[in-house]
Amino acid sequence: MNNIKNDILGAWSSVHGCLEKKLPGHAIHAWFDPIVPIGFRNNSFLLEVPNQFFLEWIESHYKDDLFMALEETYGEKIKYKFLISKEKGQKNMERPSQNVAVETKSRKFNNLNLKYTFKNFIVGSNNEFAKTASESVANNPGEQNFNPLIIYGGVGLGKTHLMHAIGNQALKNNNDLNIVNITSEQFTLDFVNSLRKNKTIEFAQNYRSSDILLIDDIQFFRGKEQTQEQFFHTFNVLHQSGKQIVLTADKFPGEMKGLQSRLLSRFQSGLSVDVQPPNFEVRVAILLEKAEQNGLSLDYSTIEFIARHIKNNVRELEGTIIRLLAKSSLLNIEINNQLVAEVVRERVGGRIGNEVSIENIVKKVSEVSQVKESDIVGKSRKMEIAEARQISMYLCRDIMGTSLNNIGMFFGGRDHTTVMHALKTVNEKKANNVRMEKVITSIRKELGFSFL
Ligand code: ADP
Ligand code: MG
Repeated sequence: MNNIKNDILGAWSSVHGCLEKKLPGHAIHAWFDPIVPIGFRNNSFLLEVPNQFFLEWIESHYKDDLFMALEETYGEKIKYKFLISKEKGQKNMERPSQNVAVETKSRKFNNLNLKYTFKNFIVGSNNEFAKTASESVANNPGEQNFNPLIIYGGVGLGKTHLMHAIGNQALKNNNDLNIVNITSEQFTLDFVNSLRKNKTIEFAQNYRSSDILLIDDIQFFRGKEQTQEQFFHTFNVLHQSGKQIVLTADKFPGEMKGLQSRLLSRFQSGLSVDVQPPNFEVRVAILLEKAEQNGLSLDYSTIEFIARHIKNNVRELEGTIIRLLAKSSLLNIEINNQLVAEVVRERVGGRIGNEVSIENIVKKVSEVSQVKESDIVGKSRKMEIAEARQISMYLCRDIMGTSLNNIGMFFGGRDHTTVMHALKTVNEKKANNVRMEKVITSIRKELGFSFL
């Protein structure tokens, strides 16, 4: 027993083996591969996990499996305990660092998320300038006119990512740099705590000793006059001594409300860069990257389907991938088209198909069938024309759920029984006719609905 307790890696590989027998591959990959076995303490097997979310997920979904695998390995009941990885712990990063004012070296609370790098930041016309400016600042902090650098834009578009990437890259270039990375709320909290404890001098020193000061989401300074005043002084001290300041905000500084004008005018001396929502191609690239990061292999039509529907921001794209992973783990099934459609539907609230219009469908059918669009919506009863029309009607109903009446109206003012007949005909032909099936599949694919 003691021997086996000493061979932690061997034991973990056996536990892993037992789990592999019970759980689907993607669940193992997503939740168990990243675990690092640490050792035994107080008769508990210590396991390091990347973050709090991980810990909670495993606790709520795989607790029994884990217990059983441990028991199988050791031949007796064994307890386990999770530790959250210090380096990468997202939760650590988010926790307000209380009492930082009394800590002497601010490096202790730089809390940079190592996941956020320039390398894994996907560039498109929507964020190219912001990334270039950020990289330049990371490589020459304080040396150019980009001081402060302000990255602004909507939610989930990569502002925090870029800011952390600046910190990570600058540290890579020079490990001695003192990087202070904090959200505006943490800054406020630290300041308030320093007031309570009569440590405002330490507070000020702490921030003013930084080589690079990164403050996230400065819009939350809104209306906090005293905090803004502190920030103003810190800003001036750093700026005058050529230290780099990087800020993020939800709006262009000139449009920010509730911030003192002397601050806003300071901001103008630097560079403001914006991040915009990604276009379709960038969304596809991001999804491919995030799927790979999460060990998911999705085929291209799935990626494209998600990219067509999830459009607002990158966080949602990422969330969709995580949700897919979570759902397939939870339901214990491999990822299939139905699951993808379900997850996307949950996110867009049934708005699937909004992109597609009757006109679009007719256009595609016309391309594929070589029947003119005007004929498809016209009166002709010629066989190939009638068939193209029926297929168009079928797709309108199937993809968009358009009412029979509306379909009839659009296609040459026919009544709903004609439409019903068309749908029935297509269904029958589809079942017996490979060519028909192929045509419909290819049109669906072109419209981005290959698997609904
Ligand atoms: P913001 O701070 O603008 O609200 P974040 O930086 O937190 O947004 O980004 C949300 C998520 O999306 C993060 O996980 C981030 O890594 C990811 N992300 C955003 N933009 C990109 C991009 N261009 N390439 C790769 N990942 C991105
Ligand atoms: Mg952010």
